[in-house]
Amino acid sequence: QQIYDSLIVGGGPIGMACGIAAKKRNLSHIIIEKGCLVNSLYNYPVNMTFFSTSEKLEIGDTPFVSHNHRPVRREALEYYRRVQTLWNLNVHLFEEVLGIKATEENGKLVYEVSTSKTTYKAYSITIATGFYDIPNLMNVEGESLPKVKHYYDDPHLYAFTDVAVIGGANSAIDAALETYRKGARVTLIIREEEINDRVKYWVKPDIENRIKEGSIQCYFESEVKQIKEKSIVIQSKGNEVEIPNDFVLAMTGYQPNFDFLSKMGISLAEDELKTPAYNAETHESNIENLFLAGVVCGGMRTNTWFIENSRVHADIIYDTLIERLK
Ligand code: FAD
Repeated sequence: QQIYDSLIVGGGPIGMACGIAAKKRNLSHIIIEKGCLVNSLYNYPVNMTFFSTSEKLEIGDTPFVSHNHRPVRREALEYYRRVQTLWNLNVHLFEEVLGIKATEENGKLVYEVSTSKTTYKAYSITIATGFYDIPNLMNVEGESLPKVKHYYDDPHLYAFTDVAVIGGANSAIDAALETYRKGARVTLIIREEEINDRVKYWVKPDIENRIKEGSIQCYFESEVKQIKEKSIVIQSKGNEVEIPNDFVLAMTGYQPNFDFLSKMGISLAEDELKTPAYNAETHESNIENLFLAGVVCGGMRTNTWFIENSRVHADIIYDTLIERLK
């Protein structure tokens, strides 16, 4: 069986950048992706606009041309498909990595990687699994009702219905404004006393004015206590309020798959951020020849790393690896 120089877990933008970095150094690679190519981006809201300008999302020396300076999801999908066509990365789609086992062959460390379909062998592993697979739950009664969504998709579904949007950051504000503009009756429920400062600077005045004029109802310093079939109960500044409700869009953020990281043997910090252990200079984790790339490096602080600033992880990792494997 072939022993790959590098097995990459995750076919997101950063996993792809890693495949390209391996290819540029003549290292053999395989990328295992449990969904479609750039699966997270595929699952973003259909009308989503990136906060990054297109050149900041570029990988593999491939120009990203978009209609406006900030690309939309559809353009990003087109772009990463084009990158794949150009670089012909060895990507296996719809295959999930389940576990690894360290073995030895001819005195060298070799990982045996089991997936949902088969097993592979590799001298090194790069984990680029992102943070978009596991939503942060509210842990309230009724959260498992089908009307509660942790992934917001297309606004049309919510037209002319009572929608509660939970959260005060970018995803929540985008969902509130978009559904409102497609005819939903929108209530925003925000824990903090104001809209998050990280909300895109061109969106913040829009939401503040919609709230001020009463087009969108907003409960600040409030939390959802219970979700019922036809209503929700909100705890707001010491009062309990019950309002009619058809859909809940819980835009409460996402987290990396910590169980998966632990299963790989990666140590996590014991504080609430659970930052995975890795050497900042090489991106090697506490496990030999097992590297971390992309958003997953931030632990619960999912806004530390994004495509823009983590593309560079790929060159850092493969510069280290070429030294080790040559
Ligand atoms: P991901 O793109 O999440 O890729 C990880 C991949 O790993 C996924 O495809 C997943 O299916 C796969 N995977 C997970 N577990 C396994 C497994 N066990 N086996 C096989 N495959 C697995 N960043 C920017 O730089 N600019 C922006 O404008 C921007 N806008 C954003 C807007 C939204 C709504 C969100 C949610 C994020 C945004 N980000 C932005 C952040 C950015 O999307 C992420 O930083 C980016 O997706 C990270 O790339 P990644 O390759 O590290 O992870």
